[in-house]
Amino acid sequence: MAYNDRLDNCREILGHLISYDVLGGQSNLTILDYIIGFLNDRQIEYYLVPNEDMTKSSLHCRIGPEADGGVILSGHTDVVPVKGQDWHTEPFTLTARDGKLYGRGSCDMKGFLACCLATVDVFKSAILKKPVYFAFSYDEEIGCLAGPALAKAIKKHYNEKPAYAIIGEPSMMKVVTGHKGICVLKTTITGSAGHSSRIRSEVSAIHVAARLIAWMEDKMEALITSGKLDYRFEPPHSTIHAGMIQGGIAPNVIADKCTIYWDTRVIPADNVSDIVAGFETWCSVYEKELKQRFPGASIVTQEDHPPVVPLGTDRNAAIVQLVTSLVGDDSTQTVAYAAEAGQFAAEGFGTVICGPGDIAQAHRANEFVEESQLSRCLDMLQALAHYLSDEKEGQ
Ligand SMILES: [Zn+2]
Repeated sequence: MAYNDRLDNCREILGHLISYDVLGGQSNLTILDYIIGFLNDRQIEYYLVPNEDMTKSSLHCRIGPEADGGVILSGHTDVVPVKGQDWHTEPFTLTARDGKLYGRGSCDMKGFLACCLATVDVFKSAILKKPVYFAFSYDEEIGCLAGPALAKAIKKHYNEKPAYAIIGEPSMMKVVTGHKGICVLKTTITGSAGHSSRIRSEVSAIHVAARLIAWMEDKMEALITSGKLDYRFEPPHSTIHAGMIQGGIAPNVIADKCTIYWDTRVIPADNVSDIVAGFETWCSVYEKELKQRFPGASIVTQEDHPPVVPLGTDRNAAIVQLVTSLVGDDSTQTVAYAAEAGQFAAEGFGTVICGPGDIAQAHRANEFVEESQLSRCLDMLQALAHYLSDEKEGQ
């Protein structure tokens, strides 16, 4: 297909993808149906990885031979809400203006999905020696919920071993080797109400909360001074942060309830689960002490969603060499947002993020992707088809 036709084709596919207003948390079966139809028309066998009640599903497929060393192209089908945002165009209708394509998800990250689908015919007509895979997920925007099962399913399903994964989150087509991991938590403290003069006899949930936040600060300090700083990230250490706190009814009433909403973002050298487990252990010792004053005292911590693991791909890894050569740009970077990339890396695939569009455009009103970015992504995928069909370049 001629170059301009491919961009036109990509734009048309993106228009379809954007018309499905599937938000994180909602059923994605409508947009999935479109993708399935697209693959069916091209006789590509696909496999689903549904959630328990079959209302959502990830999809994966292979184009090319059953051979080791293939490359997974991955993206999510869900987007974030538009409610309350000042959009100048209809968010779920693709609108082209001055070389930019506006619409919710144009950048994050249906632009990448459209590029993948627009390159199917290229992959099909190339004589691939190693395969390419598509891996499309759901519920990424509410905590990368489907990524782990999808990455595991791909590893299990195919007889051959895919080697690499490219996650097409917006990176302006730069190669991204790292993102932090994250866990969002809610800690609820139950104390005993009473006159403020009785503060030494009752359990103030607010005073307990203050101690817990002090623990978070101390723990963060310990992580910073542990020597495990990773200067690929800014800041170069793991963070722990309480963003919201609720509790109390009056200055002279001891609070019997207080809730802290907090998160921890970790560099690859730290482990979210260790931090949370350390917190829980400390809380359970503290809780015993509180129960001596008030038997009903409790500290309960819940994870908003399972922790998202970080990505820390080595600068010299083969996947980095490959994708920097595909995009013709040697530089690499890390990103501040969490993504599914760490989840694919955790299954043993050499993984980077590289996709069209600027993350600065994501999640906001008048989200757009530049057509020139889609062109660069199409070029990368064309180069990937070439790499996969060239025996000499393979390893
Ligand atoms: Zn995204």
